[in-house]
Amino acid sequence: MQKITIILVVIVFSLIACQQPEDQTKQESKKDKKWFEKPMRIAALQNNFGEDDLAIIDKWVDMGFNVEQLFHPIAEGYAALYDPNKSRKILTEYVKKAHKKNLKIILYLNIHILYSSIEKYKDNWSQRKKDGSISYMYETYPSICLNSPWKDYFYSVLDSLKNIDIDGIFLDGPVITNGGCYCQYCKAKYKEKYHENLTDHSEHKWDFYADTKDKFLQKAYDYWKKDNPDKVFYMNLPVEHTHVGFVKLESALKYNDILGTEGGFMFYGPAKNAFLWRPSFTSKLLEAVAPNKPRVIFMAADHKPWSWWQHSPLETKLCIASVTANAANIWYGLHGSSILLNTSSGNAVKNILGFYKNNEAFLDNTESATKVALLYSFTNRTKTKSDFADPKEERNTYGDSENALRGYYAMLTESHTPFDIITDFKIADEKLESYKVIILPNVLAFDKKTENVLRNFVKNGGLLISELGASLFNERGEKNKDFSLSDVFGVSTSGKYSKHKNYNYFVLTSNTKLKKNIDAPYIPLPLLTVDIKANKDAEIICKAIDDLPGRYVTLPQGRYTFATSHNFGNGEAIYFAGDIGEMYNEYHVKEYRTLLEDIIFEKIKESIEFVNAPTNLEVVLRKQNQNLILHLINYQAGPTRPFEKVSPITNLIIKIPKNWNISQVISKQLNSKLKSSDSNKFKEYVLPEMNEYELLVLVKGK
Ligand SMILES: [Zn+2]
Repeated sequence: MQKITIILVVIVFSLIACQQPEDQTKQESKKDKKWFEKPMRIAALQNNFGEDDLAIIDKWVDMGFNVEQLFHPIAEGYAALYDPNKSRKILTEYVKKAHKKNLKIILYLNIHILYSSIEKYKDNWSQRKKDGSISYMYETYPSICLNSPWKDYFYSVLDSLKNIDIDGIFLDGPVITNGGCYCQYCKAKYKEKYHENLTDHSEHKWDFYADTKDKFLQKAYDYWKKDNPDKVFYMNLPVEHTHVGFVKLESALKYNDILGTEGGFMFYGPAKNAFLWRPSFTSKLLEAVAPNKPRVIFMAADHKPWSWWQHSPLETKLCIASVTANAANIWYGLHGSSILLNTSSGNAVKNILGFYKNNEAFLDNTESATKVALLYSFTNRTKTKSDFADPKEERNTYGDSENALRGYYAMLTESHTPFDIITDFKIADEKLESYKVIILPNVLAFDKKTENVLRNFVKNGGLLISELGASLFNERGEKNKDFSLSDVFGVSTSGKYSKHKNYNYFVLTSNTKLKKNIDAPYIPLPLLTVDIKANKDAEIICKAIDDLPGRYVTLPQGRYTFATSHNFGNGEAIYFAGDIGEMYNEYHVKEYRTLLEDIIFEKIKESIEFVNAPTNLEVVLRKQNQNLILHLINYQAGPTRPFEKVSPITNLIIKIPKNWNISQVISKQLNSKLKSSDSNKFKEYVLPEMNEYELLVLVKGK
């Protein structure tokens, strides 16, 4: 049986009357919503190999798309920036027909590579490597330098779009490749600004390129908006890769009407090694960064980097469903020709988009309804592993924070716990008010502000779960003398790490209440631990057994502190001295998941529970006015990826606490109300069958 926690803000009926003015304001603001703030299903054909351009509009509409990020009629093979002499006529006709069919048009502008008709300018417009040679992208295309005269050409393109009835523009780029540009223009600008030569080791190099991008994009945004205040302007923003992408998020939010990132460009390598929850993760990450902006996840139709090898129908549906469930809009882009629309994968897109088109009402104006959050630190992410390396210590000593995050992401998802991603970007006390549990997955570094907000969170009653090197480094990557949150954790560290062979163990201490759902007497010890000393007022909840000299020996008698629980202010901190997250990501130790699940349940108390649910069922719970929307995405399709066939779930029992006041649960796939029965504290609803996706409306009231 899968028992698990979900959390809810229960709206007290007596408060409804008091909230009326606010509700009215909400209603009014809904009416004022711009078209791109409503659910979008965005199509893209990223090339032109002799298409019947206008016919494609009918295809998109038939498939359920309502927006096109338009490229194919203006494309030269795989790239192009709009050329009025060549494309004005077709673009005008295209937009006219699309609008008649209620398809919005955002024009795609490639601003990172030079294609055949402008390749001749490469000596003057391209980025240069340190040795002076031209930087190419995708093996074949010269890159574009924003400090070169190319930008004058770009502004002339914006001018030429003035009188065309498009609904916005999308910039694919800019991209600064090979770690930086060393062209004559960049060198001269750098010298003018910093009075020193631009080299590989220049102190201000990162800021220089980031500022170059920001200045260019902000100016372009203002220029565009001056004549087109209601037309969208946004770009391909590498939110997961802000450091290598030279992105300052705060600036980027000012010149992006929509936040879009490539969370659905997969897999690049073998699918079996890919992070299963990536589309879901990137959607949550975007919501954390810009909760009030429309968000788009770009999904390549194809298994990257092949352009013509399409994802299987099931992988396609799972990606679209995860993105949509997590309140982002899907962008589905083909990098082969439109013949890929006439495939079983193309049909899968039509099938799921048709469902979302018919149920658009349940996707609009929702917000997360969870009390659990997983922290993603941009500060940590911007550091490379070597930034953290102490010269006296071996590289990679401190564990992999990204794998740790993936491990916790998987544990939460597999235990059907709805949760949010939160980040250290613009973190503030009030942003954490709705949470009861925050998890720090080996987040080595964050700034003082984040540290204080997390401390206040626990002081005010929250539960903080952390591990290994959490807060052991400052924002510059320098090792602290102790955890900066040592007072909260109730433990200190000397900062000494130890590696362990994969046949060591830890045990739960006899007095801990967490024991009831774990019957394993010995649990695998993570392969990396840090030396800790528990304060007197901390409770020791797990002890590690001294390292075994070999796997076939009597267990040693020695025990040392491995995990603690500590009351701090009105809240509590639970700390594990090992890389639980990374270990779960690699070894999938189910006892870790059960332990986490129990710790969260102890704090949350009130939970939704699922019976007959496979572990790979993603659960997303959103609030919509008085009701709740429950998305279920079934990834049970193993054992190999790419997935081909889903294992249907039959008679899934959804146990909803009675005090949530849910009067009916409606399946939008089956188009029927679920049968219910009473059991103790729960109302139990039975979903007779589901395949890869279900949307349930939990209706409040009598
Ligand atoms: Zn340059």
